[in-house]
Amino acid sequence: MDDTRNPLLDFSGLPRFDAIRTEHVTPAMDTLLARARATVDAVAAPEVEATWPALVEPITEALDRLERAWGAVRHLNAVVNTPELRDVYNANLPKMTAFYTDITQDLRLYAKYRALRDSAAFDALDTAQRRFIDNELRDFRLGGAELPDEKKARFKALQEELAETYSRFEENVLDATNAWAHYVTDAAELDGVPEDVLAEARAAAAAEGREGWKLTLRFPCMLPVMQYAENRPLRRRMHEAYATRASDLGANADWDNGPLIERILALRAEAAGLLGYRDYAQVSLVPKMAERPEEVLDFLRDLAHRARPFAENDFAELQAFAREELGLPDFAPWDLAFATERLKAKRYAFSEQEVRQYFPEDQVLAGLFRVVEAIYGVRIAESRAPAWHPAVRFYEIRDAHEVLIGQFYFDLHAREGKQGGAWMDDAINRRRVGGAIQHPVAYLTCNLSPPLDGRPATFTHDEVITIFHEFGHGLHQLLTRVEVAGVSGIQGVEWDAVELPSQFMENFCWDFDVLVQMSRYVGEGPRNGETLPRALFDRMLAARNFQSGLTTVRQVELGLVDMLLHSGEPSRAPNAVVDEVRRDVAVVPRAPYDRYMQSFTHVFAGGYAAGYYSYKWAEVLSADAFSLFEEQGVLSPAAGARFRDEVLARGGSRPALESFVAFRGRPPQLDALLRHNGMIAAH
Ligand SMILES: [Zn+2]
Repeated sequence: MDDTRNPLLDFSGLPRFDAIRTEHVTPAMDTLLARARATVDAVAAPEVEATWPALVEPITEALDRLERAWGAVRHLNAVVNTPELRDVYNANLPKMTAFYTDITQDLRLYAKYRALRDSAAFDALDTAQRRFIDNELRDFRLGGAELPDEKKARFKALQEELAETYSRFEENVLDATNAWAHYVTDAAELDGVPEDVLAEARAAAAAEGREGWKLTLRFPCMLPVMQYAENRPLRRRMHEAYATRASDLGANADWDNGPLIERILALRAEAAGLLGYRDYAQVSLVPKMAERPEEVLDFLRDLAHRARPFAENDFAELQAFAREELGLPDFAPWDLAFATERLKAKRYAFSEQEVRQYFPEDQVLAGLFRVVEAIYGVRIAESRAPAWHPAVRFYEIRDAHEVLIGQFYFDLHAREGKQGGAWMDDAINRRRVGGAIQHPVAYLTCNLSPPLDGRPATFTHDEVITIFHEFGHGLHQLLTRVEVAGVSGIQGVEWDAVELPSQFMENFCWDFDVLVQMSRYVGEGPRNGETLPRALFDRMLAARNFQSGLTTVRQVELGLVDMLLHSGEPSRAPNAVVDEVRRDVAVVPRAPYDRYMQSFTHVFAGGYAAGYYSYKWAEVLSADAFSLFEEQGVLSPAAGARFRDEVLARGGSRPALESFVAFRGRPPQLDALLRHNGMIAAH
């Protein structure tokens, strides 16, 4: 392959999005995979010394190229998807997966890393280098590399059965969700349901040649019906169908996930035992910031204990409101979402449409950059680079002396062919290459409201928060000072700490002075050009904390159930664990048929097993980090420099707890999160 003719093999600068074509993908990936395999074989040879330059540098170089090229392809597949690109992507994905599986199970490589770890040369490495080697060895160990042969075979069989069972679990949830439908022919039965939901339901019925409306358990239909339908029997029917999906009470016994849950827990426990751990909860925490399952349980119980009085109060208010104003004296689980929406509308009525008129795109981005420039002492300027769509904007971050720090792409608007959601992905990771530094580059992707009729895009407050959140991940990637690719930026950051920089940034969107700076009303009439009024902001803030007690105890319940199911012997019935946890923390009664565990895909089909607590954990860290800015001034450059130096710049080069303590001067505390959520005990 002639490298100069394939833009995916050009690593002299930014990805060449103006030149990359579908037909470049497979030849480039085949070339890079072959080179990477050759590099692994070369460094694994017996005569090669186990030193950083002889072992780690060649592999880093090969993987960096592979990741950069594949990263560009993966990115294009996500943001400008076409059938041709999808085919090529899917054809190459198994090759990539197989390569990474092979190197994480390559015992020659494992032996080399161990030799380096045990040699005198290890002590001469810097912190980031040592951390990287330790992470590699940890991943080999958790992948079963240290097991004797007969146990290795069993471990592999367990992993394979787990992967199959996860996918059956997920399929059962999907099949059970899709199989249910409820057809309505009398419009009066749907009173209160929003017009766009009805239109969708009417189209779904028409597609089957039916009159009326087809209701389904898919989220965009189920949720608004539960929130807005006046028809109580309809809510009850939908609630029961949703809560019994993939369970023994569900419509189809073949989809019952109950036996799969018990099997998954048993397999995980056995795998943990083979690796020498007490239970799966311990294994799950090895690469995380939390150290012991007991620490997580204490954290969750403390949070439950402190949130519970507020949750009880939230629920008492809701019941009183339902009784007095909705004519519902016997509050039931299927009234929860409905009564919540009504109470919220009554108390904090404001229109999202009105709010969004205050946040035109350019004003918001300028406001975001002003915050970042003020606290971190950097400069952000728009620049030019080849991109994949005309709407993409490209920027550079420089230090106070105009020295380049990093670059990023902003692809903000929703459009056809673009995967939903918002995310940050690395395009290039920072690392030292000989005498030079390879600068980090990030893709920041959102699906926000696009501009309409030639007018600039305007964003809801939630959309503004999304931009700040993703930019927080971006800063973690871009402001790193680490020179080892495997632990620079977000690489190698513990899983339960990775949301710290992103959630931290969200806090600025709740600061009135910051918001005012980035607001400017666009529209006809006298308000044109005005900034966000204080009264409107106060209502937004109150709505933010509405029922935060109830939300918190619900999250804690899920976190506790998840952690306890994976702790100790997997002998207790999963639903008995749920009942036990609910006795301690739950406030809202549960319907007797509720089997939510049976569709808990985060834990039984996703990566959140013994890790669901991470959501709250990261919120505590980010709220507590922001509290230093509340103490020293929201745009304090001193606090900003500390956050940058001790957290953002360090990336995965040292434990997240060490970074946090170095920044905050003490371990994380719950207080700031409780305060931000309006949960402060009266004195
Ligand atoms: Zn995030």
